[in-house]
Amino acid sequence: MKASEVLGDLKRRFPNEPEYHQAVSEVLSTIEDAYNEHPEFEKSNLIERLCIPDRIFTFRVSWMDDKGRIQTNMGYRIQHNNAIGPYKGGVRFHSSVNLSILKFLAFEQTFKNSLTTLPMGGAKGGSDFNPRGKSNAEVMRFCQAFMLELWRYVGPDTDVPAGDIGVGGREVAYMYGMYKKLARENTGTFTGKGIEFGGSLIRPEATGYGNVYFLLEMLKTKDIDLKDKVVAVSGSGNVAQYTVDKLIDLGAKVVTMSDSDGYIYDPDGIDREKWNYIMELKNLYRGRIREYAEQYGVKYVAGARPWSEKCDIAMPSATQNEISGEEAAKLVANGCFAVSEGANMPSTPEAIKIFQDSKILYAPGKASNAGGVSVSGLEMTQNAQKLSWTSEEVDAKLKSIMQNIHEQCLKYGTLSDGYVNYVKGANVAGFMKVAKAMMAQGIL
Ligand code: NDP
Repeated sequence: MKASEVLGDLKRRFPNEPEYHQAVSEVLSTIEDAYNEHPEFEKSNLIERLCIPDRIFTFRVSWMDDKGRIQTNMGYRIQHNNAIGPYKGGVRFHSSVNLSILKFLAFEQTFKNSLTTLPMGGAKGGSDFNPRGKSNAEVMRFCQAFMLELWRYVGPDTDVPAGDIGVGGREVAYMYGMYKKLARENTGTFTGKGIEFGGSLIRPEATGYGNVYFLLEMLKTKDIDLKDKVVAVSGSGNVAQYTVDKLIDLGAKVVTMSDSDGYIYDPDGIDREKWNYIMELKNLYRGRIREYAEQYGVKYVAGARPWSEKCDIAMPSATQNEISGEEAAKLVANGCFAVSEGANMPSTPEAIKIFQDSKILYAPGKASNAGGVSVSGLEMTQNAQKLSWTSEEVDAKLKSIMQNIHEQCLKYGTLSDGYVNYVKGANVAGFMKVAKAMMAQGIL
């Protein structure tokens, strides 16, 4: 089947999966030339095999809440592609989780993992369980119930899950504890673990730091210094927190953060003391970003996203499709010259078109947020060797991986007029490696 025909076929066979169609469409529109240069790909129907997940597990998760009532959620694991290494990808707990969202994430993860240069295939999993407002004991019981099913599909050399939205260090620890009890082995079949039981230093920081390292590489191509630049960040979870941490270190001025209820705008910028407040608010008290506005007397806008605020750089770090075409136009009109994605697919297709037509620096998440899974790969290596590296060692490796991903984007994405299409660069580089590995291994 030709690349151009695959999307129509997938839409027909898997209707009502808009996020999955969106992710496939973005990749197919950029790899067509590279694909057509290899007639052997079409002969073996490679593109269709690459778009459809290897397998999908769906299961019921029943657990008891604090009032003694039995609750039921759905659980999923999508093992998308393992041509270059064991399946690898996070687990998301959010009420919006469904097959379409997890299929888009697993598909994207396959290309991202390929880009990291580490041997990891692509996967994603999750549940429509919402940890918000749940007690610690409820979260623990849910994680244990989820693992009662998931444990049989994962393992250190088959499939290694990690965190994502709604799944941080606490949830990974509960899931890993249950996994070990059931599987009777201790080889690190999860990344993002606590430092005391096999976790890697810098893993919590990795996605946010990696995104800033990628941004620095992009700015370097234009001779722009990050210092004193005004940055709008969305989200206030793991990725947003460490993006802001690194931006503060490097002298940028972060003026916004958000959660699903609204955003704060702090014209003086979030400094180290305010960042410490956010870390406590979000990770200890599990509070709302609105409380920051009350604490520091700044503007809070309920039910909105931060993209109408004036900034030089935008770093969306909350969720998919959080920048619409209209918001992208507003960002560009306000002078924003770089967008580096911490979240997965946060920009809609309309937004991406506006960024690229305006010729601003625009990095898709599968390149710029690959630092998280890269350090997960490094955590797997440390577990296999039964040793741990220092923060400095891990951070240096992370930096070098992000620089390498940036170079691959330049190599495959530089257009004849000199503009770098990072979407094309990341997709072609990620695709070629997986495609060659699949071709070499025969029809599976
Ligand atoms: P967290 O759960 O730690 O934080 C998510 C943040 O985004 C919270 O502030 C949350 O607000 C907000 N958010 C979630 N859903 C929505 C929504 N529908 N609308 C508005 N805001 C929302 O997750 P992470 O920081 O880990 O993940 C953020 C993004 O980064 C995701 O797209 C994820 O896939 C991606 N990513 C994460 C990696 C990691 O290592 N963790 C690696 C690579 C990508 P609230 O608290 O109100 O729900």
